[in-house]
Formats: sequence, structure tokens, C-alpha cells
Amino acid sequence: FVKEFKVEKEVCEATVSVSAAGLYKLYVNGENRAYGLYNPGWTQYVKRIQYQTYDVTDIIKKDNKIEIVAVGGWALANLHRAGDHFFSDKICAIAAADIKYADGTHERIVTDDSWDVYSSEVKTCHIYHGELNDFAAEKEYIGKAETVDIKTTLVAQEGKKILEHERLSAKELIITPNGEKVIDFGQNLAGFVEVKVKGKKGDRIKIRHGEILDGEGNFYTKNLRGALQTVEYVLGKDGEHVLKPQFTTQGFRYICVDEYPGEIDIKNFTSISVYTDMKRIGKFRCGNEKVNRLYQSILWTQRSNSIEVGTDCPQRSERLGWLGDAQLFCPSAAFNYDVYDFYSKWVNDFAISQDEEGMIRSAIPFNPDGRPSNPAAGWSDAIIIIPYEMYRVFGDTSMIENNFDAMCKWIDYVRTVGEEEYLWLGQFQYGDWLALDGPDPRDPITDKDFSSSAYFAYSTGLLVKCGKAIGRDVSKYEELYNNIRKTFRARFIKDGLPTADTMTGCILLLKFGLLDEGEHKKVADRLVELIAYNGNKVKTGLYGSTYILPVLSQYGHIKLAYDLLLEEGCPSWLGMITHGGTTMWERLDLVTDDGIQDVFNASYNHYVFGAVQEWLVKGAGGLDVAEGGEGYKSIIWKPVVDERLKHVHVEFDSRNGVIDASWMIYGDEIRFELLLPDTVSAHIVLPNGDQYDVCGGEYTFVIPSDSVR
Ligand code: BGC
Repeated sequence: FVKEFKVEKEVCEATVSVSAAGLYKLYVNGENRAYGLYNPGWTQYVKRIQYQTYDVTDIIKKDNKIEIVAVGGWALANLHRAGDHFFSDKICAIAAADIKYADGTHERIVTDDSWDVYSSEVKTCHIYHGELNDFAAEKEYIGKAETVDIKTTLVAQEGKKILEHERLSAKELIITPNGEKVIDFGQNLAGFVEVKVKGKKGDRIKIRHGEILDGEGNFYTKNLRGALQTVEYVLGKDGEHVLKPQFTTQGFRYICVDEYPGEIDIKNFTSISVYTDMKRIGKFRCGNEKVNRLYQSILWTQRSNSIEVGTDCPQRSERLGWLGDAQLFCPSAAFNYDVYDFYSKWVNDFAISQDEEGMIRSAIPFNPDGRPSNPAAGWSDAIIIIPYEMYRVFGDTSMIENNFDAMCKWIDYVRTVGEEEYLWLGQFQYGDWLALDGPDPRDPITDKDFSSSAYFAYSTGLLVKCGKAIGRDVSKYEELYNNIRKTFRARFIKDGLPTADTMTGCILLLKFGLLDEGEHKKVADRLVELIAYNGNKVKTGLYGSTYILPVLSQYGHIKLAYDLLLEEGCPSWLGMITHGGTTMWERLDLVTDDGIQDVFNASYNHYVFGAVQEWLVKGAGGLDVAEGGEGYKSIIWKPVVDERLKHVHVEFDSRNGVIDASWMIYGDEIRFELLLPDTVSAHIVLPNGDQYDVCGGEYTFVIPSDSVR
């Protein structure tokens, strides 16, 4: 979309504000002005679209030209389960140039049917499929712009910028048994490849992106489902070029170079990681290299799935903001990076897209006419769990304040659905999705009425805490919570054990506060028994795998928690690492000793099983926020020690200063060191039972190592 205009007077300030149904890039007098990548970002488009405002005072001259290159992006892509035309069926842009003159007058130039439309070098472009940039093609005049009506609200940029981050050089060129030229970058990630090339006008470059090689060592794309992940260029002139896609990212560790002029030199290929800008605030390391690699894989998976919203995966034809994965992973995410603004913008979309009855869908943003149209326990509950967890970590109540009414409406909604007011029964649920303890991971065996009612109790309890944090009267929800808990216990606990006699059944009772004093031991013992029946392996799904290590260690089964963490057989967290994973997998058994499993849910970059990190930090590292000490004003330091880790070190740049906590086994002693900012208080519990209350300063404790064996 092109507009030329003249400026005759002296300019004191000029800005251009732009948005699009699609993605856009802005050029003013040939100069690209950008707020990071992929503007206007991704929101619940039918409710709101962000716009960005650029200061162009320095480039306005007498003769001016504004060009907006626009493509379909998230708005026009046929996104998984969402049907065609996620939002609009036309690529649209809207812009206003505001020019203030020195004489006090003002002029505004807006998009209208006087703008000219030309073809651009971007010939095809799709979130899943990649793009074709043809620099050799002549620019064609298409005609005058057409005005269309779009019903939404324009809002000023709220999210952070999406930026290029880590740059990784290629490790190896592999000629596969099928003869493909494959480059390995050694790390799975989301982003794109920068290609350097020397060629002639009309030369073509074509690269396809994939996460793994198959058992024979060939390039493998089956797990991408329909996503083509292909980036192509046609050179526009002779000479050297540095090329990157403009509007798409891919999920990949490997690329297959199908077309490239001349010899492939891996030095000409760089993999660039792309994600929303966030400050790194937490670090974990320990004396077990495989666990350190697991932690690094979790970090990479978080980065890969933090483009604008928290996606389930960055590669296949899905890449949606699934809320279940997000709420389970968010405490881990908030240790690694300052994600407050990232979630804040996204959670606003949960609230804004809630329907009149209070229903919240399980993936957001969504196409109102498409799927997923359903709410789900542990997914839609993200409207409560994410703001609550962010309040714990950052001590900031604004996310709760902004969404509190929506949180209440959500709980009111669950109360009205199904045949029983105080339980959530008989509705479609994902349940303990992808659990491996039954015949079909997509139809987990833990009774879904049980797990959804347990979440109803948990979320209502958290809603009460959130309300209290912002001074609201929550007596209605306290009463509701008591009724849910009572009704749940009557229906779902028999002889002190869960009616859902599975690992996750036990885990949810222990984690969600559904047991009374004195009842925990029996349930924890049953959990241990069920783990033993399952060959001492984690066969839990999304719910169970997130909480299994925390509840085991909380209820006295520390050695078993470590056994599961350190297990390398299939399925296991470290099995992913020993079988070559550099990011977390969607199932813990995707690659076995027999090779790649050909299953439907086969993403190699899915953060939800990375929720195990929460226990690395809070269990092994021992660092957690104390109740009432939100923002790490006061902490609990209760390290859970095992000699197989040798030492653990956690460092966290909290809103109240840097906290540094470590333990190390050397010889017959274990040394504990804690560094606290002046204003932070800590309740310390050492593994031998010694307890201390301290505030600010450096503390060292030494205990005999046999006191924890
Ligand atoms: C996603 C999950 C998601 C789920 C809903 C899958 O396709 O990849 O991670 O939560 O659907 O069950």
C-alpha cells in the first residue's frame, strides 16, 4: 500500500501509526521503521488489534512516500482447527501519518482509496508454510486500495517487541542416505536461517526446516503434519546477498537445502532464535550434566514458544496458545525470564474473549467460528492460575486487578454447567492429557469428572487468594470453595483414597489441598505403589507430570522423586536428553531405543513437560516464595538434597533483589550458602531438620552428609 505526499512547511514532529489485518512492515521514504518483528502482533483480533506508532520526524522531507508491505500472518492463515480465514479474508492495513508544523498547524494523512496497491517481493507467506521472496519479479501495479469494514477495536501496542536473539552457527553438513543436503545447527529452536549467497539474478534458494532425522538419518517432516516450513528466495540481482524471511518463523534444528547456487559452505548459514523480548532473571545448575542439559532444553523450549503468546509448539500446523500448557509451565517460565508483561498482554485476551456466560476457551486467540470451541479444566483455569502465579513471583497485583471480574465469571460459569453445582461433571475434557498409563494417551484413564472437579476446587481456592490480595470481598467464593471441597471429598474419596485410582488421581488430591490433616500419608503411599506398578516410570500426563515430583518430595518420598528425575529409560525426562533432545518433547517417549515413534502428538518442542523445572528450583534448589511474601519479599529455603546431584545452585533476580542459594556435598559434609538482599527474609529448613529465620546477608551452614542419607 503506497501513498506519496508533499510537505511544504517546516515540520516539528511527524509520526505514523499503523496496524493491519495480517502482518506489516512500514517504510517511510525507503527507510524501514519497525517495532521488532511481526507487527501488529497477535491478539484476539475480533476484539482488539494493536497498532504501533513510529516517530518519523527525522525522515520527512518535501516529497514523501509511505509504503506498507502487508501479508496474511495470523489473521488470514487457516490455523489448525480454526477453519479458514481466522479473522479476515482480505489483507488490510490501516495507517495515519500525523504531521505537526512549526506554525502550529497539523495535518493527518490516512489510509483511504487514494492509496496505490502494488505487488511485493513476498509472493507467498503463511505462518505454517513459510514464504517465497521473489526479488527478481517486477513490481506490478494492482490498482487503488479498497476500503473495507472490519469490526474490532484498535489498541496501542501493549506487548513487548519480538526480536532476534541467539545466533547459532551450523555444525555440520550431512548428505543423507536419500541424497538430501541437510545442515545441522545442533539446537532445536524457533526462528529462521540467515543465508549468505553469491549468485546471479534469478538464482533460487529453497530450504525446508525440520526437527529431527529419521532412523536412517534422512530428513524427517511427518511430525510437522501439514506445515511445509519452506522458505524460498529468487535473487533480484547478481552479487552477494544476506537473506532472511520477513514474516515467518519455523521450528527446526535441521534444514534441508533443496536449491542453492554453487557449493554449500556451512559458514553461510546461521540459525537465529526469535522470541518476545524478556529479561533473563533465573539460573539453575547442578553437578549432574544431564540434568543441566535438561534445564537448558527447557529454556530453549520456553524461548521457542514465546512468540507473542505462549504456544504449544512452534513447528507443526498448530502453534496455538493452548492455555493448559501455559498454566502448568508458567511458574517455571517466571523463574527463567521476567514474563510479567508477556502474560499480562495475553491474559487480557483471555478476559476480553470470554463469552457472556463466562466461558473461556482452551486456546486463545481463536477464531469465533472455529475450534477449539470448548472450555476445559486445567486449560481455561489459566485465567486464574496465571495471574495468581505471577502475583506470587513478581508481587504485582495488576494482572489480578485487570482480570478479577473475568476470573469470578469463569468460576460462576463452572458452577452452572453440568448436573451438580459443586462439581464439574459430564463435559468434554482433555483430562490428564497424554498420560502413558493407559491404552490411549489422548483418552487418559484418570476419571475426567474427578480431575475437572479437582481443578474446580483448586481454582476457586486460588480465586479467594487473589481476591484477598486486592482487597475484594470473597466470602461468596470462600463458601463456594468449602462446598466444592466437601462435595468433592464425599464423591471422590473412598476409604481415604481417590476413586480415580491412578498416579494422577493421588497427585491431584495431594497437590490441590483436598485432603484433611492426617490423610496425606495413605494417599502418598498409594502413589508410590502405583509408580512401582508402572515400572518406576513417569507415565502421568500433563497434570500429573507437573506435580509428581513436588508431591513426592513434600510427602517424604525424596529418593523416589530423584529416582524419577534421574531415570533414563523410556519414558523419562532424561531419556529425552539421552535420545538427543535439545528441547522438550510433547510425549516423553517420542524416541525410544527402537527409534522414532510414529504417533500423532509428536512435537519435539513442547514446553509443558518442562514444568518439571519447578521442582528443580523449588525442590532440589529449595527456593520458593513464602505465603504472604509475594515477589520474594520473604522466602522459604528448603533444599532437598541427593548426593547424585552433588551440588545445586539457583540464582534469581527477584523484584526484591538477587537471591543466590546453593548447596554442595564435599566429603562428609554438605555446605549450604544463601545470599539475600537486605530487605528479604528467609525461613530456612535444612535436610537434617535444623531451622533458621534470617533477613538480608550471607549465610553458610554445614551439616554432616550422613544426616540426609
Ligand atoms: C496441543 C497440546 C494441547 C492440546 C489440548 C494439542 O494438540 O499440542 O499441547 O494442550 O492439544 O489437549
